[in-house]
Amino acid sequence: MTTVRAVIYDGTPGGIEVADVELAAPRPGEVEVAIVAAGVCHSDLHVIRGEWVIPLPVVLGHEGAGTVTALGAGVTGLAVGDHVVLSWVPQCGTCRQCGLGRPWQCETAARVAATGVLYDGTSRFSRNGTMLHHYLGVSSFAERVVIPASGAVKVRSDAPLDVIAIVGCAVATGVGAVRNTAAVEAGATVAVIGLGGVGLSCVQGARLAGASRIVAVDVNPAKLAVAIRLGATDTIDASLADPVEQLRDAVPEGLDYIFDAIGRIETTEQAIRALGPGGAAVIVGLPPTGARASFEPLVLAEANQRILGSNYGSVDPRTDIPLLVDLYMDGSLDLDELVSGRRPLAEAVAALADLEAGRTLRTLLVN
Ligand SMILES: [Zn+2]
Ligand SMILES: [Zn+2]
Repeated sequence: MTTVRAVIYDGTPGGIEVADVELAAPRPGEVEVAIVAAGVCHSDLHVIRGEWVIPLPVVLGHEGAGTVTALGAGVTGLAVGDHVVLSWVPQCGTCRQCGLGRPWQCETAARVAATGVLYDGTSRFSRNGTMLHHYLGVSSFAERVVIPASGAVKVRSDAPLDVIAIVGCAVATGVGAVRNTAAVEAGATVAVIGLGGVGLSCVQGARLAGASRIVAVDVNPAKLAVAIRLGATDTIDASLADPVEQLRDAVPEGLDYIFDAIGRIETTEQAIRALGPGGAAVIVGLPPTGARASFEPLVLAEANQRILGSNYGSVDPRTDIPLLVDLYMDGSLDLDELVSGRRPLAEAVAALADLEAGRTLRTLLVN
């Protein structure tokens, strides 16, 4: 048992605290990781707004990178000192979904996420004898974590951990939605609604896929400017006029793919309504539990359109995360533009407030 600093949320309004907690040693199949940097994501905000119900109290954070500091029994393929990016789908490799080649839908990892404990049904975090839950099997807002070994993805040691931390959620989700879920073809016309860390990763995924048009949509001119630097061919300020009309005017031949990287009802409905013939709307951003969007089935059928859900960019973390790190290191993928700042772990509350207010893209909490 070691004592580490961690960010705890107890379920009450404003109930976030940075405190010392106890971390137990890794059990069989688990590893301990010293977190170097952890990204602050909207999925952390959903929890503290009460929009998603998860087991509480919890150690927040689900995006991060660090170095392996201890191995539980039976762990192979990892060694102390390895650089790892954390995955919030620590796939089991043996369930039906893993067997079908869909590790991002792993049933065991889904149970870990829903119950807030690790594979064996227990937590490694506690405080004064009270159990604390893991968030998505990661809980990266801590100095050290213990996670399933499959959630620690080994990456090359020359990549800066305080940049590639964001690959584990935002970048995998955004680039993966384009390359894997939608499988955007070269020459396709693409729009991305919402330009946070995920949306700007969709823009970059579309650029990598060779899309002929990449229309970036947001209400923040600064984010529109970033999108142009990352490969967008056009921008639309959704605050000026109906974004659906603006999208149709911008690409009169029709949009083949529209990514909703926000996940509000109106943006999901906009993504569906603005599609061209044969197009696909891809839901990447996540709404509160229970939210309902609507569409006109006749239009969808007659235009042969599709609505696709994308979970974790349909990535296999073990292969896609190292690949995305390689793309960053060879200059094909810009991650530095997505990292808007770094703060010590103790400033987690301020970092979450900045994200809530739309002042930041991705803040990294560093140890
Ligand atoms: Zn996230
Ligand atoms: Zn599985």
